[in-house]
Amino acid sequence: MEYALVTGGSRGIGRAVAMRLAQDGMPVVINYKSNTAAAEETRAAIEAAGGRCELLPFDTSDPKAIEAAVEQWEAQHADDYISVLVNNAGIRQDNILVFMTDEQWHSVIDTTLNGFFYLTRRVVKGMMTKRKGRIVNVVSLSGLKGMPGQTNYSAAKAAVIGATKALAQEVAPRKVTVNAVAPGFIATDMTKDLDEGELKKLIPAGRFGKPEEVAALVGFLASKEAAYITGQVVSINGGLYT
Ligand code: NAP
Repeated sequence: MEYALVTGGSRGIGRAVAMRLAQDGMPVVINYKSNTAAAEETRAAIEAAGGRCELLPFDTSDPKAIEAAVEQWEAQHADDYISVLVNNAGIRQDNILVFMTDEQWHSVIDTTLNGFFYLTRRVVKGMMTKRKGRIVNVVSLSGLKGMPGQTNYSAAKAAVIGATKALAQEVAPRKVTVNAVAPGFIATDMTKDLDEGELKKLIPAGRFGKPEEVAALVGFLASKEAAYITGQVVSINGGLYT
């Protein structure tokens, strides 16, 4: 059986993506770091809607934890494989560069960029063997345009964009697609400290986006219909200039 694995699937965009993929008929594996209550809530919502869901907590910045979790999942799923991987887990640790600490720099790079590398390397093997797979990386407007106060985050997201384009070319012959979605401002816990009233004046659409809107795009890129789209970065930002 084919499964979808969504990192950072307990809350926000990841939760909406997990719910969307489950609604589209895939059994979903939800990764998260520590918020078990939120992950259980997401699982309950998926199951209440008739979907199938499992939880697989690990820290995307910890390669040993990734290896142990995927190995354990595979041991319990001898006949299954992960055919859709959504690399969505991410954090913000904003500061202007001149005051940025080593911890702020490394935690963002490790969670987003190194997490992408370790997990994708582990999971893409199965997709290549089966000659079928979808990888969708959730990046950001910040990785395309650069945002002051986010050199760490912009660098991590820009690096994942480069990796998306390179990996797409490596695995296209094996019928695996690799794309990125680049949201602007989406209403989640990550943006709840921002002044939405002020920021929405800058957005042509006049509002923050909804996690479900990003999930619909990820759902399409993960679908059969998107077989000929690869190596792309699709912005979803209400018309913000990138
Ligand atoms: P969010 O509401 O803060 O949720 C973050 C999710 O990531 C949670 O499920 C969290 O798990 C998980 N996570 C964080 N660090 C992790 C780690 N080290 N290992 C495993 N899971 C980890 O964030 P969001 O707004 O939905 O953002 C999702 C993605 O979209 C991120 O990559 C973010 O950079 C990107 N994005 C967001 C926006 C926006 O405006 N919201 C815009 C552009 C891009 P726990 O519940 O266990 O903490």
